Amino acid sequence: MRRAVNGAHSIVGEALGCQGREIFFTSGGTEADNWALKQFIAEKPAHIITSQIEHKAILNTCKALQQMGWEVTYLPVDKYGIVQPDDLQSAMRNNTRLVSIMLANNEVGTIEPIKTLAAVAHAGGALFHTDAVQAVGHIPVNVNELGVDFLSLSAHKFGGPKGMGALYAKDGAISSFVDGGGQEMGRRSGTENVPGIIGTAVALMLADGLMLHNAQKVRHLRDRIIDELSSMDGVLVTGPDPGPMRLPGLASFIIDGVDSETLVMDLSAKGVCVSAGSACSSGTGKPSYVLRAMGYSEREAWSSLRVSLDDHITHDEVSELIQAIKSSIKVIRNQH
Ligand code: PLP
Repeated sequence: MRRAVNGAHSIVGEALGCQGREIFFTSGGTEADNWALKQFIAEKPAHIITSQIEHKAILNTCKALQQMGWEVTYLPVDKYGIVQPDDLQSAMRNNTRLVSIMLANNEVGTIEPIKTLAAVAHAGGALFHTDAVQAVGHIPVNVNELGVDFLSLSAHKFGGPKGMGALYAKDGAISSFVDGGGQEMGRRSGTENVPGIIGTAVALMLADGLMLHNAQKVRHLRDRIIDELSSMDGVLVTGPDPGPMRLPGLASFIIDGVDSETLVMDLSAKGVCVSAGSACSSGTGKPSYVLRAMGYSEREAWSSLRVSLDDHITHDEVSELIQAIKSSIKVIRNQH
């Protein structure tokens, strides 16, 4: 059992370009994000910088830290969802302890300039964390090339088990998150979830091996969806242009004259599973805060559609998906 757990640390470390002893398994991306951000709470409250478009796992953790006296700066993004290094530079203070910017956004697929942002943080004396939950297993992620001190991942995003994740900490330098019997190098105690840990390592190994092939396939299918839908009147692609700054499997749109909840429900009745903006903020009664931060109006943000493709989707399924979305849009628009 010990050998298997150690082997899993090495496999995940190898995939990220680090040592196995720098990987700490957690119950998911949310826990890894909490750990990275709350690692300094025993210290005198200081300053943290993040962005306005982070996942709630980061934003709500920052809110909790603010309750404890920490100051948090939420950086804006441009219309493509990109955090500007100059904005980070201006926000840095003498007491900035940590900067946390996501590697890839879960709603519009924007890939952030992490290497540059981490360099700015370091030059100002702060440590750097990235939430790489949407990126690991889908695009190459190497902690040394990125120059980050901490990185979060979630296993189910690359075909691994739900309820599993990991935090990378450079040189294993992070305070203990769960005290007890000393598992996970004394930083996260409790009997290890051995099947979950092994499942995470195996899934990442497989995802890494197939990454090039899958990314190429999914990127091509995503671009077909983008081309077809954006050729319709009043359909706007959100996020960066297809290219190196966008996740391969994510396409997002604003569809004029269409309420996203109605569209999602109509498509769901046809067996097509898409979401209105962030899957995690749907049902909150609020339009996507990511699109609002990118400068879209409230009305536009209510008309958003997010299509996420997994590696197993076929060309025929994508054709059906496009037809289903197009016909739903026409039907909903005709109802007005
Ligand atoms: N961070 C991002 C960017 C995510 O997309 C998600 C989940 O979708 C999380 C964190 C939370 O991960 P988990 O569900 O493993 O807790």
